[in-house]
Amino acid sequence: ERSGIKTTVNRRPSSRKQVHERKLPAVLKDEVDKTQEIPDKARETSLLDQRIKYIMTTLQGVDERACEQIINDILIMDEKIHWDDIAGLNNTKNILKETVVYPFLRPDLFKGLREPVRGMLLFGPPGTGKTMIAKAVATESHSTFFSISASSLLSKYLGESEKLVRALFYMAKRLSPSIIFLDEIDSLLTTRSDNENESSRRIKTELLIQWSSLSKAIPHSDPNGKSNNVLLLAATNLPWAIDEAARRRFSKRLYIPLPDSETRLYHLKKLMSSQKNILTVSDFKIISIATEGFSGSDITALAKEAAMEPIRDLGDELMNTNFDTIRGVSKQDFDTALSTIKKSVSKESLSHYEHWALQFGSTG
Ligand code: ADP
Repeated sequence: ERSGIKTTVNRRPSSRKQVHERKLPAVLKDEVDKTQEIPDKARETSLLDQRIKYIMTTLQGVDERACEQIINDILIMDEKIHWDDIAGLNNTKNILKETVVYPFLRPDLFKGLREPVRGMLLFGPPGTGKTMIAKAVATESHSTFFSISASSLLSKYLGESEKLVRALFYMAKRLSPSIIFLDEIDSLLTTRSDNENESSRRIKTELLIQWSSLSKAIPHSDPNGKSNNVLLLAATNLPWAIDEAARRRFSKRLYIPLPDSETRLYHLKKLMSSQKNILTVSDFKIISIATEGFSGSDITALAKEAAMEPIRDLGDELMNTNFDTIRGVSKQDFDTALSTIKKSVSKESLSHYEHWALQFGSTG
């Protein structure tokens, strides 16, 4: 599960490597500043590219190589998730709309007391949709999306992590509105312990400094205040490992629980809607009840496994079979799949989450 930096970012235009070659004319810069309102995806991507090129020619007080690394590895451009893609979690979606999405889309309405929050924590068992939510917040608020796991700062990027953290926040401000998604935040904001080493302490300090700096404008940012629209959205499966001072810095701590039966039903129907099947309304209901305790990712794994059954039936005939003649997925296929795909979150750990949510979670 702990996958480090998301690997989907490498489908980048090769022009990214020549970012220093051309300065943008002033007219184009104005054009670039207006990009945040343009919804069309292709246009968005190419204008984002232009903004990046411009920024790379006007870097100030930040390591150039680290900025390139942010652009190449941590900036995610082509993974759009919408609210409807996420089953359930309606309360969470509403809170995020009110605290992030609308303020980012209408900064003129959300000033002063209504200013958007700077830090939010998503916690709960693995596979419940925390990463999906972060992506959806970025998509729905037309924000630039940066995604990195805190544990990779302590491993893959160790030695350059402080520079990288500085560059991350710098680029997020200049490409604002931005969402910085920091997965596995517990590994960095951990309760101080004797074995906490010097380098992880330094990275943690840098993160806290940069996080505090989010309300300060930076040079070359656009004049209408949008540069302040940067949110640190952190996720963890181990909320109790986060130290108290860090925990208090999150304005909201949202519990992302396991799905209830209605949510599982919605999720199953959605997954099967693009797959030939002979499931009846009551089959769906029975499966959604049988999957009590499953996480969203367990449900997805189950449906994938069930969808393999019609293919397995074919045996060696597979190579000569026409796609249209493959039988639909049945309730029996789900029964078979249920014998191998089990829930991944134990009852004991669930009560641990619920206890922490009661103590430290936000309810709205
Ligand atoms: P987390 O970040 O909480 O560990 P993810 O967001 O990475 O979980 O979810 C992993 C996968 O599980 C997703 O790619 C998706 O296929 C499925 N999934 C989890 N939760 C949901 C949900 N609420 N709705 C739809 N799919 C989900």
